[in-house]
Amino acid sequence: MNAYLSTPIEYLKGIGPAKAELLKKEIQVFTFNDLLFHFPYRHIDRSKVYKIRDLRPDMPYVQVKGVLSNLRTLGTKGGQRLVAELRDDTGVLELVWFQGHKWIKESLKSNQVYLVFGKPNEFNGTINIVHPNMDDPEDAAIKKYLHIMPMYNCTEKMKARGIDSKTIMKWINTLILNPQFEVTECLSMELLLEHKLMNRKAALQTVHFPTNLEQLAQAEFRLKFEEFFFIQLKLLRYKVKRHQLFNGIKLEKIGDLFQNFYHHHLPFELTNAQKRVIKEVRVDVKKGIQMNRLVQGDVGSGKTVVALMCMLMAIENGYQTCMMAPTEILATQHFQTISELLKELPVTVKLLTGSTPIKEKRVVYEMLENGELNILIGTHALIETKVSFKNLGMAIVDEQHRFGVEQRAKLWQKNKYPPHVLVMTATPIPRTLAMTLYGDLDTSIIDELPAGRKPIQTLLRYDGSRLAVFGFIRNEIKKGRQIYIVYPLIEESEKMDYKNLVEGYESICREFPEPNYQVSILHGRLKPKEKEHEMGRFIRGETNIMVATTVIEVGVNVPNASVMIIESAQKFGLSQLHQLRGRVGRGADQSYCILMSDVKQSAEAKTRLKTMVETNDGFKIAEADLKLRGPGELEGTAQSGILDLKIGDLSKDTQILSLARNAAQLLLETDPEMKLDVNKPLAQFDAIYRKTAKWGRIS
Ligand code: ADP
Ligand code: MG
Repeated sequence: MNAYLSTPIEYLKGIGPAKAELLKKEIQVFTFNDLLFHFPYRHIDRSKVYKIRDLRPDMPYVQVKGVLSNLRTLGTKGGQRLVAELRDDTGVLELVWFQGHKWIKESLKSNQVYLVFGKPNEFNGTINIVHPNMDDPEDAAIKKYLHIMPMYNCTEKMKARGIDSKTIMKWINTLILNPQFEVTECLSMELLLEHKLMNRKAALQTVHFPTNLEQLAQAEFRLKFEEFFFIQLKLLRYKVKRHQLFNGIKLEKIGDLFQNFYHHHLPFELTNAQKRVIKEVRVDVKKGIQMNRLVQGDVGSGKTVVALMCMLMAIENGYQTCMMAPTEILATQHFQTISELLKELPVTVKLLTGSTPIKEKRVVYEMLENGELNILIGTHALIETKVSFKNLGMAIVDEQHRFGVEQRAKLWQKNKYPPHVLVMTATPIPRTLAMTLYGDLDTSIIDELPAGRKPIQTLLRYDGSRLAVFGFIRNEIKKGRQIYIVYPLIEESEKMDYKNLVEGYESICREFPEPNYQVSILHGRLKPKEKEHEMGRFIRGETNIMVATTVIEVGVNVPNASVMIIESAQKFGLSQLHQLRGRVGRGADQSYCILMSDVKQSAEAKTRLKTMVETNDGFKIAEADLKLRGPGELEGTAQSGILDLKIGDLSKDTQILSLARNAAQLLLETDPEMKLDVNKPLAQFDAIYRKTAKWGRIS
């Protein structure tokens, strides 16, 4: 980093030690460079000045110009507000502040002309603007950037000390205008030319102070590319390293066992997508590089059998395999499915969960160690230290989002050498996230459902039509179908949810009385044995209705269940709704998902429910989810520092990310050590990036 940009922030004109402390604490700005990388969250066009008479409450941000008067404090302590009037030749507007009174009073002067910027509201029949932006129209910096003005994030504490967006704008303006301001290019000339990227210095200036929106877009493009490029370089390098470090287990044979299963024991024809994924795995394991593959497949796309066939590849070559599932119910179900499929083949399968009796556990441990056991299926119990394999060759992790990276690592340590790992997730991840979170994994996608499946019909119903819904259920049961009714379980209000569940169960039992109907109930408070019993009854078709909490969310497979009713659907997240819906539509019959909701719901909940009604496509749903919640909120992403992006936006920048990833990939293929002269700038930055892992800290 050059000397000027690494100057401590207190030395910038207008900042000083006290404000510097605040900046360090509040927005982690320590140096000039940090401030330069405090990008605007948006730009606003302030070229238009409205007349007060023309303001309407439904307008977005507007600017008016007028004389300030009558600045005064109203209300009692605690509910105090500062108000003032602004007058132009067409009328009067009220300005209101609820916070920062002291500083605002000191800085504003009555009878002076101000440019006022903010969102018009209506209050008691008059138009006002709350917390307006107040500028002196003669201020040089303001005049200069009046056309497209950057807006910066400031914390409450900063605002209380008089540091607002405009202050920051001025500081950055000072920083950039200094003759010593210099920026080193970090991308190679080749990349700049190929992707028509703005040079770094221009981009950093423009991102703050563009002269038009097109230029701004170019600057952002350049900076996003750069950010993604260095992240991808790091991730992809992990992958290359891993391949160099570990010689994976070579699974050369595809022989009798696999063929026999494929031709004689598979109860259906594989979909093309399933075949393709099996082939992709096959290519990896044959080469002898250690496989780390993420298989994404929508609910019901048939991941289990893909996993099984991959395990057979390992078994055929004399290795053991395991499959780890997030819940006991799911592990048990996998165990049953797989045992059934393999029942005529010489393969041993065992189940290991928290509730496996000690005696049985000992048997499993022994069979694992002496190599008798071919497939071990289970829950987290699989990664307990007591479990050790003779020669684990392939590990399957099902429904990945419940397993953290650490747990995956534990699995790798189960061996002298790392086994091949196949991670399967039914929560499709938007491509951008997959590339960032699992950038070091290879991915396979099962993007096709088995033939003959009818798309699930999703309906939104309000509480008022409950009777009609009951009628519908009755009808479906008459046809021999089974029904799920799911209640939300949210940790904060677990007691209340439990109450709702029990009440719901009781009302369902009244509505659907024995002996004509049988109703199961399943929730987290039941003992594992009880859960298994209830689930078993439903799977065997002994009960018509399963009333449950989200315990059933993941993976459960009952093809005869064709109706999923989700109570208080507005309380569920999108991916969870999609997961739940995926419990039906697994047989040949038309399936339904009925979302029961309060009439009243937040805008976000409305969008979620609408998305569910409109599409069955898990990838589309994942994209919508990402847009609604932002990447930080999605499961498993919170801890990942990778998502600490300065400018890139994973919900929008798919294309730039792809370009950057391809560029990084190409670099690793052609000049991995970055020894070529053209790549020198990249090498320097990459070295710093790997140390700091904070892109914005580099200059
Ligand atoms: P998921 O991908 O959600 O884990 P499963 O592996 O549980 O899906 O499969 C869902 C259902 O589809 C199972 O009943 C399974 O037997 C069936 N299935 C899987 N693949 C096929 C196929 N190619 N043709 C027909 N049915 C299939
Ligand atoms: Mg599954």
